Amino acid sequence: MPRCVLIIGGGLAGLTVALRLSARGHAVTLLEESRRLGGRLVAPRVEPAHTLEPQDPSLPSSSEPQETLPLIMLGSHTSTFSFLKTLGPGAEASSFHRLPLEFLLPDGCAVRWRHLWAPGPFHTLLALTIFRGLPIRDRWRALTWLERTWEGEPDLPIDLEHRTADDWLAVVGQSETARARIWCPLARFLLGEDLSVVSAAMLVAMLGRCFFSSRDHSAITIPAAGVGRLLLNPARDQLVRSGAAIRLETAVRRIQFDSHGVTEIQLRTGETLKADWYVAALPHRSLCSLLPERVLAQYAYFEHLTKLSDAPALAVHLRFERGPWPARLLLLAQGPYHWLVSRADAGAGRGGTRVSLVATGSAAQLERSDQELIDVALGVIGRAWPAWAEARPLKSYIVREPHAFLSVRPGTGALRPLQQSPLPNFFLAGDWTDTGLPGTMESAIRSGDLCADAIEEKEKSK
Ligand SMILES: Cc1cc2nc3c(=O)[nH]c(=O)nc-3n(C[C@H](O)[C@H](O)[C@H](O)COP(=O)(O)OP(=O)(O)OC[C@H]3O[C@@H](n4cnc5c(N)ncnc54)[C@H](O)[C@@H]3O)c2cc1C
Repeated sequence: MPRCVLIIGGGLAGLTVALRLSARGHAVTLLEESRRLGGRLVAPRVEPAHTLEPQDPSLPSSSEPQETLPLIMLGSHTSTFSFLKTLGPGAEASSFHRLPLEFLLPDGCAVRWRHLWAPGPFHTLLALTIFRGLPIRDRWRALTWLERTWEGEPDLPIDLEHRTADDWLAVVGQSETARARIWCPLARFLLGEDLSVVSAAMLVAMLGRCFFSSRDHSAITIPAAGVGRLLLNPARDQLVRSGAAIRLETAVRRIQFDSHGVTEIQLRTGETLKADWYVAALPHRSLCSLLPERVLAQYAYFEHLTKLSDAPALAVHLRFERGPWPARLLLLAQGPYHWLVSRADAGAGRGGTRVSLVATGSAAQLERSDQELIDVALGVIGRAWPAWAEARPLKSYIVREPHAFLSVRPGTGALRPLQQSPLPNFFLAGDWTDTGLPGTMESAIRSGDLCADAIEEKEKSK
């Protein structure tokens, strides 16, 4: 039987739940505080407000939003690719540029990780054998450890969730040089923070997903289209077509409970809304501020949310007239930026190039002035492409976000909540909920799928 569902939060997680449930005929209302869908994928910008009502035939044509980050997709992002499929032929047929994985070492030398033609995981074992970024002793130790673990002796230690990745890599014989030059940049790229901060379990899980599964899972691509054309506009159009109501600039002030579950949602305007199912697809800090004190105190499930922490991120986006330069992804061994990506500028129409430099997990970087950040970024570009050292950007914008994604420190796994809360009509989604993944777009979409599964399961048992 179709049910009435209220979803709070129009980021990727909320959109995923909304699309899944509205496709099943539920009456979905999506409440979003800001003027746009997309949440943390979209950089804040002042724009005219608009509200979409169900079956509105004249959709406002919104301009392409500015991305907070370049949308890099790993082959292991299976939930993201399935999500694109559900958005129809437009999104699915978008072209993706293949990016080789390269490391820029402190001496300015770039080394490439080869994506070899061999069935997984042999493609990784062979690539590791010939990878010049790691000293020979480190490669040999890594291969020996992998071979022994494969044979089950020793098993993976059970305390990995309580150790840092740095500690674990040292135990398996990776030298300080290898950790600083290769493992740390890779951890920043995959998990968003330094090796000495992230949990060993999360690093092992991500290495397993990306490099020790099928060969396709270790492919790295970047879509030619921006986040609006690729994801957000098709998702919005599909929701409106399926009869969902999208209410932008609609902030929730309070979620009201009794002992059986959520009773209603109170908006900042004072309006109250009721539904059969309630979904909070919000950042964990925002959710805590909407919950009554007694609910936070009564349930360990909600109390755990107050112990989660976030990592900051900074992105400097530069547009150059020259180019297009080759599409490249460089993980940087030396700060202050941790990776950079270049690709043809689809919007320019004149063959320009966009280069984005990202620094993660480093709050001090957020304090630096725009000019300082751009100057340092140009220095890094000059090191990576000496031929382009004199190039000056036509345009730039900078995104500073102190709460960019979940910090996956040791012990965080046990604090991440399942999508079904202890209250039967209340569900959570968001990149920080229990997905087994670091807090990324893939995790946000996966959480939305798990949340929709939990609601469907609940309906079957009714
Ligand atoms: C600078 C930066 C760099 C990043 N880099 C990467 C990267 O390289 N790769 C990657 O995969 N991910 C990256 N991320 C993370 C990625 O953007 C997120 O994982 C993902 O977008 C989270 O989606 P979400 O739906 O869980 O949450 P959100 O996008 O935060 O969505 C939550 C929504 O809830 C709304 N909301 C909040 N409070 C209320 C309220 N009271 N009432 C109504 N609505 C409310 C918010 O406005 C927001 O739209 C980055 C993020 C940032 C900021």
